[in-house]
Amino acid sequence: MKLSVVIPCYNEEEVLPETAHRLTALFQRLVDQQQISVDSEIVLVDDGSRDKTWHIICTLADESPWIRGLKLSRNKGHQTALLAGLFDARGDAVISIDADLQDDIHAMEQMISAFRNGSDVVYGVRKRRDTDSWFKRNTAEGYYRVLAALGVEVVFNHADYRLLSRRVLEALKQYRESNLFLRGIVPQLGYPSSIVYYDRSERFAGESKYPLRKMLAFAWQGITSFSPAPLRAITGIGLLISIGSFGVALWALWMRLFSESTVPGWASTVIPMYFLGGIQLLSLGIIGEYLAKIYTESKQRPPFFIEAATTRTARTPETGH
Ligand code: UDP
Ligand code: MG
Repeated sequence: MKLSVVIPCYNEEEVLPETAHRLTALFQRLVDQQQISVDSEIVLVDDGSRDKTWHIICTLADESPWIRGLKLSRNKGHQTALLAGLFDARGDAVISIDADLQDDIHAMEQMISAFRNGSDVVYGVRKRRDTDSWFKRNTAEGYYRVLAALGVEVVFNHADYRLLSRRVLEALKQYRESNLFLRGIVPQLGYPSSIVYYDRSERFAGESKYPLRKMLAFAWQGITSFSPAPLRAITGIGLLISIGSFGVALWALWMRLFSESTVPGWASTVIPMYFLGGIQLLSLGIIGEYLAKIYTESKQRPPFFIEAATTRTARTPETGH
């Protein structure tokens, strides 16, 4: 079986040599044990880094016959870089993992055996999240719950560490969305799947390339790509407010006709005005988000361009497995 490992890399000069070192060691062992074929590959995708990442990738590709590199024309974000690598990978099975060694690479062996036992998709799921901050842990947990409540199938505590079989990759290629939310799409594809649990450690070196801003954008992207629920919520809120105001109108009429006290007026005018104004702006904003989504998707722009690729030192399979 030919294995491809795909790694998106953005400004990862500090970790890449170590990542490559550990992965090639693992590859060597797996090849020796005849778990994977000798023409397996590690695809490093440079997501328009500003540091020496591409230079390092080229050197690594020269040194190791297993490693090859792709360079995107500019920074396109983790998901897109990952997609570029997945679409370019040639293995019978492809494992995606981050460059920073946070995910235990030894879980790959379990993923491969799950693949051999018939799983087309193997999700890497973290056992615990105690290496994340309290904030990240809780927001992530809440987010998975929101997605699930909105009817998006997601695997809890699963990031982008997963194995995909060739036929799942081919299915994925048929999606024409320019913003593909893999964590939502992959479960939706169906096919036999299984889960492998692993420990997640601290980043080996360097800083997180996911500041809060990118995380929020990614989270919102996940919701709007999959669920029209926020749009429906607007209709619901509008309906409730209308019914409520109808009731208030009846009450005002009642007071006017059958009671002595006059309505003071100020609060009952100003509060609903601001309240409704707020609701309307919020609603317009949400509708606008979806409109923007239709706009970007309808342009059907290519999601990425590959600027360069390392020329692979051809490896002839000496052993015939
Ligand atoms: N990454 C990328 N493009 C970006 C941001 C990140 O390709 O614009 C890569 C990064 O190099 C790493 C992976 O995505 O391999 C996950 O990023 P990181 O480890 O910084 O995220 P965190 O683990 O902190 O969520
Ligand atoms: Mg990380």
